[in-house]
Amino acid sequence: MTRDAIDILHQVFGYSGFRGEQRAIIEQVGGGGDALVLMPTGGGKSLCYQIPALMRSGTAVVVSPLIALMQDQVEALRQFGVAAAFLNSSLDARAQFEVERDFAAGKLKLLYVAPERLLSERCLDLIAKANVALFAIDEAHCVSQWGHDFRPEYRQLTILHERFPGIPRIALTATADAPTRREIVERLNLEGARQFVSSFDRKNIQYRVVEKENSRRQLKDFLAGHQGESGIVYCLSRRKVEETAAGLVEQGVAALPYHAGMDAAQRVHNQQRFLREDGIVMCATIAFGMGIDKPDVRFVAHMDLPKSLEGYYQETGRAGRDGLPAEAWMCYGLGDVVTLAQFIAQSESGEERKRVERAKLDALLGYAEIATCRRRHLLGYFGEIVEKDNCGNCDNCVNPPVSFDGTELAQKALSCVYRTGQRYGVGHLTNVLRGIDDERVRSLDHDRLSVFGVGAGLDEKQWRSMFRQLVANGLLATDAEGYGVLRLTPAARGVLRGEVRVSLRKPASREERRATRKAVRGARARQSLDIAPHETALWDALRATRAHLAREQGVPAYVIFHDATLLEMLRARPRNAEELGLIGGVGAAKLERYGGAFLATVRGAA
Ligand code: ADP
Ligand code: ZN
Repeated sequence: MTRDAIDILHQVFGYSGFRGEQRAIIEQVGGGGDALVLMPTGGGKSLCYQIPALMRSGTAVVVSPLIALMQDQVEALRQFGVAAAFLNSSLDARAQFEVERDFAAGKLKLLYVAPERLLSERCLDLIAKANVALFAIDEAHCVSQWGHDFRPEYRQLTILHERFPGIPRIALTATADAPTRREIVERLNLEGARQFVSSFDRKNIQYRVVEKENSRRQLKDFLAGHQGESGIVYCLSRRKVEETAAGLVEQGVAALPYHAGMDAAQRVHNQQRFLREDGIVMCATIAFGMGIDKPDVRFVAHMDLPKSLEGYYQETGRAGRDGLPAEAWMCYGLGDVVTLAQFIAQSESGEERKRVERAKLDALLGYAEIATCRRRHLLGYFGEIVEKDNCGNCDNCVNPPVSFDGTELAQKALSCVYRTGQRYGVGHLTNVLRGIDDERVRSLDHDRLSVFGVGAGLDEKQWRSMFRQLVANGLLATDAEGYGVLRLTPAARGVLRGEVRVSLRKPASREERRATRKAVRGARARQSLDIAPHETALWDALRATRAHLAREQGVPAYVIFHDATLLEMLRARPRNAEELGLIGGVGAAKLERYGGAFLATVRGAA
């Protein structure tokens, strides 16, 4: 070991301290040991191999499956003054030769390589001759056949261990579950590695779920609190992606569409703009996001229900990698459940698979309807037990819903389902309960049923909320064919007989809904980063300076400085290089390159 980990953290990266387990991991790998690191997105995995790379002699070889990202990662390191390069299929022969030459000559501290490239004889020979400090295997869950990112080449990475047994290895992933972890250990021969398992809690992400009423208007209200910020809006279908993006552009939001049905060049172009510019809102299907490590995504909005809680956690996890406040917002209605149930019913999968998918959908619905802490529920689903029952940063903790004994209302709803023959969806059931004798009700003689009009005390939205909760509580089930028909489950019987009581969340009345909307709008006049009116001018100026420098070099804005760094500048208003150097994220190289520009910006605003 030549350099101290903490000195590198200060001098090169300009950060004041380690996060979570970083120090222990860096000591393990820097000292020549193997490590398996499980850390959530945004936890700070990169430093866990970047700092050991700088501590040890030789080059760290980083295996990464995401070719599109290597360039940005390498660029970010170069900005910190670290000699880094990548080898993948995007390089022409000449550029490739130059990288190989630099690597052989020991001029690089980090070399990023795509797995298929690494496994070529040419590359393995090169490694055998070079001085390698360590191997880092990023996105290590790609070895897992059961995961969604399976990469057959990852399985062959055991070659590294066999051919170069003395070189330390560090495998990293943000996938938490135990079977995947076991598979990584086994497939990569990491039995002797120390395991570092962090909490997967993303404390800076606020979770919110709202009932779908008029989703376009609801999205507009939501975005009013995120003006000028980068974010992702997920929609279920390509058409909805297009419509949502177009609708937002009409409202003056810098929104772009992204889905698999688009022309490939246009898709890449939109992704590049999202990465490189400030304040782009990406409307996308879940085809978007794999490997997006833009740190300043301030919100992830779901216009429709995601397919599973696993998917939801991964998608929302793309917000707030930089640790600053971020929001995960979801707008959902029972119609979403019906649509997803339809997808499952119509898919080609076998019965077993369909059962698994329906169970995942139920879990998601349970999450959406829960009245207690969402964070605790989410982490619990992934096997992490949280003692605290109030996280203070989800809608249910900030604004606890009022529960009430809903047994009588539940009985009304359930018997309405029963009396009408378990053949109708929420719309019709609600009409019967509210005593609305439209044509359908009359033609079916449902106005003669004993349940007709027994629920006139609640409005339509309130009944919809009741039905959703009854489905989430497992008293009603949507039909497997996906027509939106509600049927009683065996558990409903106990409630109908009065043997089991049901606690429900009180559905807000029209007046209450309106009041909440108003309050939310008021609170959201500001943005997630809490920039005060008197700070806006300097904040915009700092961002403009950053954008200018980024454009000049053709790199993403966050590669120059993160929002967290600009925010510190805004608050500290440094007057000279010494003061600027104390700010998080301002290492020696960046201070020298950009210090002048940012000091001038601060001075200009004084
Ligand atoms: P991951 O790969 O785990 O998703 P990254 O390595 O990209 O996370 O780190 C997430 C963000 O946190 C990055 O912007 C990084 O610069 C920042 N970061 C990591 N470690 C620290 C630290 N010790 N102090 C301050 N910022 C950090
Ligand atoms: Zn909570």
